[in-house]
Amino acid sequence: MKTTSKLTLFATIACLSVAALVLADHPPAASVPADAALTKLKEGNLRFATSEVSQGKPIAARRKETAQAQHPFAIIVACADSRTGPELVFDENLGDLFVIRTAGNLIDDHALGSIEYGVEHLGARLIVVLGHTGCGAVKAALESDHAPGHIDSLVRDIQPAVKAAKSAPGDALTAAVTENARQVAAQIKAKAALGDLAKEVMIVFAIYDLDTGKINWTKD
Ligand SMILES: [Zn+2]
Repeated sequence: MKTTSKLTLFATIACLSVAALVLADHPPAASVPADAALTKLKEGNLRFATSEVSQGKPIAARRKETAQAQHPFAIIVACADSRTGPELVFDENLGDLFVIRTAGNLIDDHALGSIEYGVEHLGARLIVVLGHTGCGAVKAALESDHAPGHIDSLVRDIQPAVKAAKSAPGDALTAAVTENARQVAAQIKAKAALGDLAKEVMIVFAIYDLDTGKINWTKD
């Protein structure tokens, strides 16, 4: 190989390496800033709660648009309850929400890893822990310290919220559901390794009402 060709090759490799480093050092910018993302979710829930039928959405075009890359604007940690699907209750579409669901909207290391990925690699800056009225997992934890099989793991993780909410006024289940969502939001704040991006991230918890379809928002 001629010296000039070698130099060109070296320069090309150097450029590519620098480009790779730049990409690695600079995660994608926020899909949507946290405040604006929260407004979008509030507006979406209002549409959902006040609609007679779910609004028609351009699903095929959106599928094509998001097939190669996703830029969700919020991370939702929701209960697995079949009546609380985040894309529905926030009236959003494919690619809008990065969703983690377990009974009782709990988190573990897998969930924390998913949250970190959603922030660092996908650009989400808003994290919502979404509890809901009449949550069966929280009800089970209210009624007993233990449960059969792996349900026991859910009940055990909800116990601290049940205990903390014991003296709260009003309905015991509603108080425990709210406290559980608050505690999970606090756990995310304490444990998620978000580095410098933490200052751009907002973590909130909210309670979805099965009867009205409305979400009561709370900021910790
Ligand atoms: Zn639930």
